[in-house]
Amino acid sequence: MKLTIDGLQVDNKTVFVRVDFNVPMKDGVITDDTRIRSALPTINYLIEKGAKVILASHFGRPKGERKPEMSLAPCAKHLSELINKPVAFVDDCIGHKVEEAVKALQPGDVLMLENLRYHNEETKNDPEFAKQLASLADVAINDAFGVSHRNAASVVGIADYIPMAAGFLLKKEIEALSAAVVHPKTPMAAIIGGAKVTDKISVISNLLPKVDVMIIGGGMANAFIKAQGCNIGSSLFEEGQEAIATDLVMEARVAGAKLLTPIDAVVADAFSNDANTKIVDVENIEDGWMVLDIGPKTRELYVEALAPMKTIIWNGPMGVFEMENFAAGTNAVAKAVAESDAMTIVGGGDSVAAIEKSGLADKISHISTGGGASLEFLEGKILPGIAALSEA
Ligand code: AMP
Repeated sequence: MKLTIDGLQVDNKTVFVRVDFNVPMKDGVITDDTRIRSALPTINYLIEKGAKVILASHFGRPKGERKPEMSLAPCAKHLSELINKPVAFVDDCIGHKVEEAVKALQPGDVLMLENLRYHNEETKNDPEFAKQLASLADVAINDAFGVSHRNAASVVGIADYIPMAAGFLLKKEIEALSAAVVHPKTPMAAIIGGAKVTDKISVISNLLPKVDVMIIGGGMANAFIKAQGCNIGSSLFEEGQEAIATDLVMEARVAGAKLLTPIDAVVADAFSNDANTKIVDVENIEDGWMVLDIGPKTRELYVEALAPMKTIIWNGPMGVFEMENFAAGTNAVAKAVAESDAMTIVGGGDSVAAIEKSGLADKISHISTGGGASLEFLEGKILPGIAALSEA
């Protein structure tokens, strides 16, 4: 049994809390604060218990440089409004200044550190850096499910020096996702879309033996369309992906899973909402056109396939849903998932945004705060940030 926050003595203790405040931001303004709000149960609990709370997070990918647009200062300010109390901010995450700020904390105070990834040592899980982070506190809490699949100093290395427990958000994620891994109700479907084809191809392969139906959409689907010998025009595609797609078709046969890929598509003559568009069967995609959404026949096929499912996992949009003209596929899947009686798990920023936009988010059994992390968990992998938690 892993240690969880409620099993930890925290009163009067200095607690290092790894949160995931990597929120969408435009011109310094937070456009969606879900991730910050998701950490509130842990933060409020610690404040009430009289802990001295240190919050640490990454933001974007500054790759070891101090990029001002990736500062966590706006998140500290926003959190202060949400909890209705001051949140101190220090412009680094290790060093003398930080130590002084920690020393000044009184029970119930909150201090937010600057972006952990301003130091490359964070993503490299550097032991010296992890030790410096650990030296700030008595105990650590991991409440950053979204990065728990990464071998980072603040989620893994730190636990070599001080005890680390799961926060309420991490605990909730583990409980909800475990239900789908340990006792999945069948039949089970996975819907995988989006643009990070190379990343997600291994996910498809690992999920195939676990699911009855695998539904493919988004940029990912182009590799499968091409593997069938169809032209894909100027659609998103990387060399070599059709060979992988061919292998996956074979793997699906061996696993006895039904693999569904688009039969028609919304194609456009430019990557723009103002582009000319038409609907074509995948056999008829012409040069100069690109696939930006699944077509109406595919939508119907996917919605029908989902109807009898008892467990549905969804990660990644079916098309370029940010542009209205290419959002129908993603919206149809969002609606089908939300209206299903199955246990439904949605992860990945874009799929979650599509569900939120549909107004049906409360119909989803579990909306995960981690895209990549939730997929790796569902694949059955042991996430390093969970493995590193202390035993209860
Ligand atoms: P991911 O981060 O892998 O979940 O990918 C999400 C992105 O995939 C979104 O920004 C979509 O616009 C994009 N996307 C979905 N379908 C396509 C497509 N057919 N072509 C290009 N990009 C796509």
